[in-house]
Amino acid sequence: MKAWKKTIVILFAKAYNDAKEYVFVLYLEGKRMDTLDELYFTMLKNAADGKVELAPEGADPKIVECLVLPDDGTVVRVKPCLCPPDERHCEDACEWDALKPGGEVGIAVDPKKCVGCQACIDACEMESLKTKKDIIPVVQELHQYDGPVYALVAPAIAGQFGADVTLGKMRATLKALGFTGMLEVAAFADILTLKEALEFDKNIRSENDFQLTSCCCPMWIAMIKKLYHQLLPNVPGSVSPMIAGGRTVKALHPQAKTVFIGPCLAKKAEKNEPDIEGAIDYVLTYQELRDLLTVTNLNPAEMPEDSQPHASTTGISYAYAGGVAAAVKRTLEKLNPDRKIKLATRRADGVPGCKEMINDILAGNRDGNFFEGMGCIGGCVGGPRAIIPKEEGKKQVQAYADAAEFETPMENPYVIGMLKALGFNTVEEFLTKSHLYDRQF
Ligand code: SF4
Ligand code: SF4
Repeated sequence: MKAWKKTIVILFAKAYNDAKEYVFVLYLEGKRMDTLDELYFTMLKNAADGKVELAPEGADPKIVECLVLPDDGTVVRVKPCLCPPDERHCEDACEWDALKPGGEVGIAVDPKKCVGCQACIDACEMESLKTKKDIIPVVQELHQYDGPVYALVAPAIAGQFGADVTLGKMRATLKALGFTGMLEVAAFADILTLKEALEFDKNIRSENDFQLTSCCCPMWIAMIKKLYHQLLPNVPGSVSPMIAGGRTVKALHPQAKTVFIGPCLAKKAEKNEPDIEGAIDYVLTYQELRDLLTVTNLNPAEMPEDSQPHASTTGISYAYAGGVAAAVKRTLEKLNPDRKIKLATRRADGVPGCKEMINDILAGNRDGNFFEGMGCIGGCVGGPRAIIPKEEGKKQVQAYADAAEFETPMENPYVIGMLKALGFNTVEEFLTKSHLYDRQF
């Protein structure tokens, strides 16, 4: 299409879509229209105030449903697509074949194929795509659910709500919001580190053997499952720390609801994967939690300390690129210091970098026997819904990891206590006798 024609189409589509967004949303008292974001904050405030009616009169029921019952995917189209077929940047950006032309909206997202990478949202010049938010239903659960509701926070949380907001202050904040308690997902990353180290020790017997990290990043796993499935035999079947945390909470408290809080959108898609669904009920991002703190006027920095952090250095390090590989290497050195074939790591972050590394593996240019891939540049501190820049996030997480009282889960009494509650005396016994953290890819 010629440039001037394209400009006219884009200008027309932008104007149409802007108008459409207002039509989509609501009409208040016959006088005023609110944007989608305004509707979101109005409903979130109403939910936090314990009101039953969340949406103002006249709000578009489709949008209200999407904010209150968000469980059929990660990406939602808020305006119809008006781009000509050869200008659909969202479709070009999706590496997962999850966007298909057709239907009333012009192009639709297939929630079964979408991995929540956010590439289409970034590519859409019309801002017609948004990510689903789970925060409103979570607030409703906090007000209405009779049983316990646990928050499971990802280790990238260090520094996200201010440099002086410790994990203890964050626990007090979450309890003030109505959560029963807060668990650090890093403690479950700790246990999975040992699982990966044990798998390496069992499986890597010759210079030709190699292993890919299995547990941490859903984008990395989606990449292998969907694009490079010939490598699946080299990926041990483990759940992610998020799923491990959810399963553990539900094993100990079957009535509990579990809410993961992290910087990641792909986790929203991960929780619905058929073989692991049910472990986590909701996935919130740090930005959604920040929105809730805004409408409730709660400042985590002013909260009291509520107990000490309980994760180990190795598990906390999962939050930045290179952390998983370093954790498994260190744990293997402790587990089997005399091992002949040492663990040699190679890592990549960002989808293009991960693909390049995988293509090298397939071409025989391995240069390592243990491969870590993270979907985001910098790892989870660079996740799409982090609040602070990834460099600052990494600095804060490293300080949190350095201050940890225990280096690995093997000597961590909090981890051991949790396993004892499940009926096991040591991490090794738990991993050899329990299938709670197993998964078949
Ligand atoms: S979020 Fe990623 S996987 Fe999902 S539709 Fe968009 S580009 Fe495709
Ligand atoms: S690296 Fe990115 S996609 Fe992967 S788990 Fe972390 S935030 Fe999610």
